[in-house]
Amino acid sequence: MPKDCLICQRIAAIRQNENPYLVRELATGYVVLADSQYFEGYTLFLAKGHVTELHELAPKTKLVFLEEMSLVAEACSQAFHADKMNIELLGNGDAHVHWHLFPRHAGDTAKPGPVWWTPMEQLYGDDVAADPVWLGKLKAALNQALDAVLLTRVGELGAVHDLTLSDTARSGQAGQQPTD
Ligand SMILES: [Zn+2]
Repeated sequence: MPKDCLICQRIAAIRQNENPYLVRELATGYVVLADSQYFEGYTLFLAKGHVTELHELAPKTKLVFLEEMSLVAEACSQAFHADKMNIELLGNGDAHVHWHLFPRHAGDTAKPGPVWWTPMEQLYGDDVAADPVWLGKLKAALNQALDAVLLTRVGELGAVHDLTLSDTARSGQAGQQPTD
């Protein structure tokens, strides 16, 4: 993994059982809560392998990754009673492919618009840093919703979940193995 990739470092911590933000591991990524919870329920879905563009994923892996992202977004919506989900794949700061999933509520920004219109000092303020108790409640809510969503959708996913070994090896999954 690239030594300077913050997301690879977070994933390494997950694999060491040292990432308190982990909610669940899925086939193609990790569901984690964001460090800052100004928008309560702000969730991230991190690609398992180090790729920096969606199109770098092998085709089947990409389909499952997109499907899983959508399921996580659905669970996030249910868990946090969103009026609207915002889903973004940006990567200008940390390029490793990761989705930002924001449950939005009417009136949560001064004017209707993207979360990024909120001043950075509010978005990342000390008062919205998730403490262990708050994290525990959010994780429980999201896990419960994930259980429900995954259970109801599992029949629909059979085709896309038919990943082959060669496909995962060709994708960023190979990047899971430390190269140093
Ligand atoms: Zn990375």
